[in-house]
Amino acid sequence: MQILDDVVSLQRVYCQRKGLEFIYLKDPDLPHVVEGDITRISQILHNLLNNAIKFTERGSVTLKVRYTKHPNGNFLSFDVIDTGIGIASSKLDNIFRKFEQADKTTTRDFGGTGLGLSIAKQLAQLMNGDITVTSFIGQGSTFSFTMAAKECHLPEITVQPGSSVRCAVVDDLQTSREYFEHVVNAMSISSQSYGSAKAFLSDTPLSFDVIILDLSMPEMSGIDLLRQLKTLNPKPFPKVILISAELERLEEESDDEIIGLIWRTHVKPINRRELEHDLNKLVDTTPQVTTDTAAANKKKRILLAEDNEINAEIVKTIMQSEGYKFLHVKNGKDAIDVVKRHNFDLILMDCNMPIMGGIEASSILRNALDITTPIVALTANAFAEDKEECLAAGMTDFMAKPIDKDTLLSCIRKHLAS
Ligand code: ADP
Repeated sequence: MQILDDVVSLQRVYCQRKGLEFIYLKDPDLPHVVEGDITRISQILHNLLNNAIKFTERGSVTLKVRYTKHPNGNFLSFDVIDTGIGIASSKLDNIFRKFEQADKTTTRDFGGTGLGLSIAKQLAQLMNGDITVTSFIGQGSTFSFTMAAKECHLPEITVQPGSSVRCAVVDDLQTSREYFEHVVNAMSISSQSYGSAKAFLSDTPLSFDVIILDLSMPEMSGIDLLRQLKTLNPKPFPKVILISAELERLEEESDDEIIGLIWRTHVKPINRRELEHDLNKLVDTTPQVTTDTAAANKKKRILLAEDNEINAEIVKTIMQSEGYKFLHVKNGKDAIDVVKRHNFDLILMDCNMPIMGGIEASSILRNALDITTPIVALTANAFAEDKEECLAAGMTDFMAKPIDKDTLLSCIRKHLAS
């Protein structure tokens, strides 16, 4: 369950930033792969963990994952437990309703739309599951998400002789290592895995053509590993694919010389297709022409106005994967300010934002400022009248949340082409 590592690595960082302890308890019997919609599972987990962190000032946030075998069907359960402000028992039923927030003042203090949990519950129910909550004021909350999950077995992979590329995987998380090995071996590339930078350096560090390297590892980071490897002066220097949930840290922690040693970077959650695309370049040496589209995309500028951190993160990751340049603001007023100063080819606008929402901002952009840039509404309200309201405010198109990668990219392409 690679997806869990991706969710955990990102949310662990959010917890650390807020000074909270993050506890991750994983059932040792958890199957490596289950049948299920990973986009939905990860959206739900991000949503629950995001809330737990948002509503907890001190203490911890725990994610507990269990796999239960049952004659009527196996299921996965995820408990997100926090030591935060808690929810009054009278409000517990309401928080799963659209637009409900347990306390009206939370909008002012914490932002948000009150839509996350209702969508999460609907998504869980679509997967034959549910989300329930127990909570006590001042003591914290436990959100339990269960879903039917059939274990599935990946076809056995035999590494075919032929590709002489040798790959090292260096990551402290076992499930991440297994996932990378699976991807790499499926491409007939042989691999050797290491659970720490030290284990890698004390083995045969000079014998690899490519290293898939995790940036954040305890004791010795990926950057420190590269510093050490450089002193060993391998020739040619292996292709380094650096993996991280937080690429901003790369610039903070390293210098230009080290950054120059990195061949590719991939942000967690990993996009398998993109990783394979990079690895393919090493196996197949025929020249690729794909850089043309990436270069063309780099010239396009997109403005994203979205206050919800997780949604913004998802949209940013998708845009990054295609090489688009973008700027992110968190309310309609800031969107107007930047549009006055810069030209954009497309604006993605959330409807519900604090200070100024997307509808009002779009109407000002169109009517007062005569801006003709296409504006796509991102909204959780997928009803016909909401769409009409967006179009009436001058918005060009409309996308319902949760955002799906393919739908977003085809929407971006459509409006950038017009
Ligand atoms: P939002 O966070 O955008 O307001 P949600 O649907 O995710 O929307 O949450 C609805 C409401 O439920 C929140 O506004 C908050 O009042 C309450 N809530 C959700 N999770 C927690 C939690 N872990 N601790 C305390 N209150 C919570």
